[in-house]
Amino acid sequence: MSQNDGTVTVYIALGGNLGDCRSAFVRARAALAAAGLRITACAPLYRGAAVGGPAGQPDYYNTVIQAATTLTATQLLRLCQKIEHQGGRQRQQRWGARTIDLDILDYAGTVSAAPHLTLPHPRLHQRRFVLQPLCAIAPDWHHPRLKHNAASLLEQLPPQPALALVAQRW
Ligand code: AMP
Repeated sequence: MSQNDGTVTVYIALGGNLGDCRSAFVRARAALAAAGLRITACAPLYRGAAVGGPAGQPDYYNTVIQAATTLTATQLLRLCQKIEHQGGRQRQQRWGARTIDLDILDYAGTVSAAPHLTLPHPRLHQRRFVLQPLCAIAPDWHHPRLKHNAASLLEQLPPQPALALVAQRW
């Protein structure tokens, strides 16, 4: 959605399961703000078992940030990748353990199938670790392609344990 001040609303998912994830998330949020994003909401911090990927991984920490920005979607992707890099992320195994991962869930309701930036994020509607934090701040967020809101997408997931709440604020 485009605001009167020329910004658009974006949702960014943060995840990680190596090292001090909470501090990595705090640094990532500060880096987003330093790049000019206005953070408008932060979901609580949750913890849950790894989904997919190699066996025996540590639990994941997850949250979602809502922000207003004047960056383009591609600029925002580059910024997220820079923050991952600064957070020590090393790409080794797909879905392997990582210190911090930033995914753009939604950029102003844009629908794009570009492989370098698929919007909304192609797997967000299948992931409790994304939908549970998203619902905590934006249950009415509307999936522009599936035409369901976040609360309804969460309800439609197959039964799985809810993520544990680690901290309401972080
Ligand atoms: P990952 O290893 O899960 O962080 O995936 C990173 C790759 O996914 C990068 O090559 C991105 O260009 C691409 N990508 C596609 N859509 C998105 C998105 N919505 N948010 C973040 N990365 C994306």
